[in-house]
Amino acid sequence: MIREIKVKTALSLSHLPGLDHALNPYRGCAHACVYCYAPSVIHWDKGKWGELVEVKINLPRILSKELRLKKKGVVGLGTVTDPYQPVEKKYELTRRCLELLLMHDLPVCIQTKSSLVLRDIDLLKEFSNIEVGVTLTTLDERVREKMEPGASSIDERLRALSRLRENGVKTWVFLGPLMPHITDVDALVDAIVAVKPEYVLVDRLRLKEGVWENVRRFIQEFRPELVNEYERIFREGGEYYEEVFENIIKKCKNSGLRCEINELRN
Ligand code: SF4
Repeated sequence: MIREIKVKTALSLSHLPGLDHALNPYRGCAHACVYCYAPSVIHWDKGKWGELVEVKINLPRILSKELRLKKKGVVGLGTVTDPYQPVEKKYELTRRCLELLLMHDLPVCIQTKSSLVLRDIDLLKEFSNIEVGVTLTTLDERVREKMEPGASSIDERLRALSRLRENGVKTWVFLGPLMPHITDVDALVDAIVAVKPEYVLVDRLRLKEGVWENVRRFIQEFRPELVNEYERIFREGGEYYEEVFENIIKKCKNSGLRCEINELRN
């Protein structure tokens, strides 16, 4: 379901590293990833995540005013929603916000799981400082369909990364969340190296409020033999990831790909 809403503010303070402002054209996200922790961040109380998307219909007008008054800084486009989820095809809020940000030539960081970002290449190419991050969690399309049902396919995302790069847009990959024993780490890093992003940011699964119930349901249905192992990994803390991160860092280094581990607290 889609609902149009009006907002009073556009840019909010971002607590994410490297970002000053957060800009989210939508509330809710039809990509409906099972591990999404946005609902706990925005205190979502409007039913099952993924079923309702609220469209901030007046956002460009508010943003236009704020850009004249607010302190300049890096804008994170899509921190608790995907700015290129399907509803963007019709409303083009992300595109209209990009047009405004371009007029002020603000630095922008986009993160998406959708190849719809390619629609805006003409604008992206004009920024003096912009980077587009594409999230990848697996190479297995069967897993992707279960885990990120509304998002673009893996091939579409890899192709989007290549096309952006060919057009001179700086790209990066968010490799995460790494799903223990599900994310095919080695093959995925090889596929990422092939599309030549500037860097890869690796992240663990973050079990914020409500996430474990969704992940558990997914594991129970998809790989029931892993339920106990997941409980063990998350009871014991970070040990599992230390080894996996080490392996990824080594593999990236050998391939000449810059790799960062997301050090955010849970
Ligand atoms: S694309 Fe991002 S915001 Fe949307 S459901 Fe997935 S993790 Fe959440």
